[in-house]
Amino acid sequence: MKQKQVHLFSSDFWEKEVEIIERKILEDIQLEGLNCSIEKAKKSEFYGEKLKNIKKIKNFEDIEKIPFTTKDELLKHSPFSFIATDLKNIVRVHSSSGTTGRSKYIFHTQKDIEIWADLVARCLYMVGMRKDDIFQNMMSYGLFTGGLGLHYGAERIGALVIPSGAGNTEKQIELMRELKTTVIHITPSYLLYLAHYMEEIGLSPSNDFNLKIAIIGAEPHSENTRKKLENIFNINIFNCYGLSEMNGPGVAFECPYKEGLHLWEDNYYMEIVNPKTGKILEEGEEGELVLTTLKREGMPLIRYRTGDLTKIIKEKCKCGRTHRRIQRIKGRADDMFIVKGVNIFPSQIETVIMEFPEVDKNYQIVIDRKEGLDILTIQVEIKREFFKGDINELRNLQEKIREKLKERILVTPVVELIEPGTLPTTTGKAKRVIDKRRL
Ligand SMILES: [Zn+2]
Repeated sequence: MKQKQVHLFSSDFWEKEVEIIERKILEDIQLEGLNCSIEKAKKSEFYGEKLKNIKKIKNFEDIEKIPFTTKDELLKHSPFSFIATDLKNIVRVHSSSGTTGRSKYIFHTQKDIEIWADLVARCLYMVGMRKDDIFQNMMSYGLFTGGLGLHYGAERIGALVIPSGAGNTEKQIELMRELKTTVIHITPSYLLYLAHYMEEIGLSPSNDFNLKIAIIGAEPHSENTRKKLENIFNINIFNCYGLSEMNGPGVAFECPYKEGLHLWEDNYYMEIVNPKTGKILEEGEEGELVLTTLKREGMPLIRYRTGDLTKIIKEKCKCGRTHRRIQRIKGRADDMFIVKGVNIFPSQIETVIMEFPEVDKNYQIVIDRKEGLDILTIQVEIKREFFKGDINELRNLQEKIREKLKERILVTPVVELIEPGTLPTTTGKAKRVIDKRRL
């Protein structure tokens, strides 16, 4: 099947002069932005103390003298202690919960909100969204940034926005059909579920809708999952990256070439550091992404440890944008789990199982401990036609998946093949890993 064309002309930039800016000029803007952000941050209670001895930095090497800001610090200190302006200038707060259950609060001024909307518009325009598009935003609205973040960016472009929010699949499909939705924003696990639901009620995901683009985010997923979804719907699917601490969506986004995500360096200064030692790594080495806001007024964050593992792609992109790309996020340092002493990311497992055409759309990873030994079980839903087939073929498949996994993750898992529709489905972020050792 041929994929529908996405605009790919050189004139297709939201803010051309910024997007193809010369590196030298961009670096000057960044150095100035860093100093400006540090001075602004010092007005807050938290950074006033933390950065009191930090002088103006003269070059990028100096940045190593500035201490990191961590998630723990955001969680431990009073939310207001990070605000770098008068509280009356703050117009909105978003939050996300930490693993401990406490929340991180991020405050925005009116100007911050405007800049955020423009950044998101830049991303959406880059993947082909235009004024005449009909955009259905199937992400949760509210404190979570995926809803309002994309909403304002799409409106900035002038697209017609359907703020449908997450869930209520029947209604989503009705809206898509009646309003002829062309672009959606959705989590990959919900998009898989949507395909399943459409097929169940006798609709073809690729023929019965006007869809041409999906933007997926908020949870890690493999390249194979993207390709599978692109084939099911016959659309183009793009990855977006963001975190609420850095506004939310719109920090980095894929361009039509889908070879990494352009990180908007006029707004964020990025470093890749060794997650253990904190040392800055060479361009192209894999490590933890550290970001500094360059323009934010309400709550500047300096050298923030995102916990996300990636690397910078050195080569210039074919699209002409000069903002460097990061590789799709391998996983959050928090998502990683350890089985029998081996570090494993759920994305590694997903990559392997999605290579098998017999595999349906849902899977789950269960880790347990018996008699002091870790047991890793992967439950994989198999397409109905294969599930009902020959038992020997099923056993064969089970063995092949197990061997492939062993090869890639270096741990031999138990593989269970299960009927489609057995695992719980979700309309939000999927819970792929159940670690019973922690229960
Ligand atoms: Zn590009």
